[in-house]
Amino acid sequence: MPNRKTAIVTGSTSGIGLAIAQALAAQGCNIVVNSFSDTADDHAIADAIARHHEVKTAYIKADMSKPAECRALVERAAKTFGSVDILVNNAGIQHVAPVEEFPVEKWDAIIAINLSSAFHTIAAAIPLMKQAGGGRIVNVASAHGLVASPFKSAYVAAKHGIMGLTKTVALELAREKITCNAICPGYVLTPLVEAQIPDQMKANKMDRETVIREVMLEKQPTKEFVTVEQVAAAAVFLCSDAAAQINGTHISVDGGWTAQ
Ligand code: NAD
Repeated sequence: MPNRKTAIVTGSTSGIGLAIAQALAAQGCNIVVNSFSDTADDHAIADAIARHHEVKTAYIKADMSKPAECRALVERAAKTFGSVDILVNNAGIQHVAPVEEFPVEKWDAIIAINLSSAFHTIAAAIPLMKQAGGGRIVNVASAHGLVASPFKSAYVAAKHGIMGLTKTVALELAREKITCNAICPGYVLTPLVEAQIPDQMKANKMDRETVIREVMLEKQPTKEFVTVEQVAAAAVFLCSDAAAQINGTHISVDGGWTAQ
């Protein structure tokens, strides 16, 4: 197919990012799969997407905690496929601890990966999108971009920050046919959420089932986890022509959490 769009999805070897990469590939986009690990499994994920959806894919290693690697990811994607039409800033990590005990290195890593990386990839992608006559930027924020929860100071700060970045970029590029929006998922049962269950058990002095019921799904009125496919569908919509006038805002996929 001529003129395929190229989409970069940061942190796309797992969870939500992988589902977004697969869903954009299903729309016919060439996909840049990214993580920081560069394992045989990472490359196999990119190869499987290419085979399944008959698109081109490339696995590009870049550590989203490092500004130069964020920018190099975009440059390498453009060199590989000739354009960058869609940028999905998804890579993210979490750490759960009371603010007065929050490890400084965890704070710095969360701000770097969950917030600053998007600044760097966006800055590198804008000239390419302008040159191409348009583009789509989707930032995977969180319900925690809109409301807070205890013990997640760095994550909530980073996610609120990315909401501000989303709005600012949208205003700056509104005349360039480039939109910038956020998706705010509630709890999705990915490895990121699995990993925080033991910390939540410790911080709240609860067992696993109680954490899931009373800490996680307690906030989600549907009492169900969001699925990665539901988040990916929102990303596909924001990248579609139908969403051309949706700019500087967010779609919540949170089962009603932030309606409360
Ligand atoms: P996940 O742990 O399943 O996947 C995270 C991905 O990011 C992986 O591919 C990992 O390799 C990559 N990554 C981590 N650190 C990186 C780094 N330094 N450089 C490059 N890649 C890196 O997590 P997930 O739950 O799919 O989360 C994806 C995004 O969705 C995150 O931004 C997260 O904050 C957000 N989110 C998740 C939930 C949820 O409930 N799972 C809810 C709201 C928002």
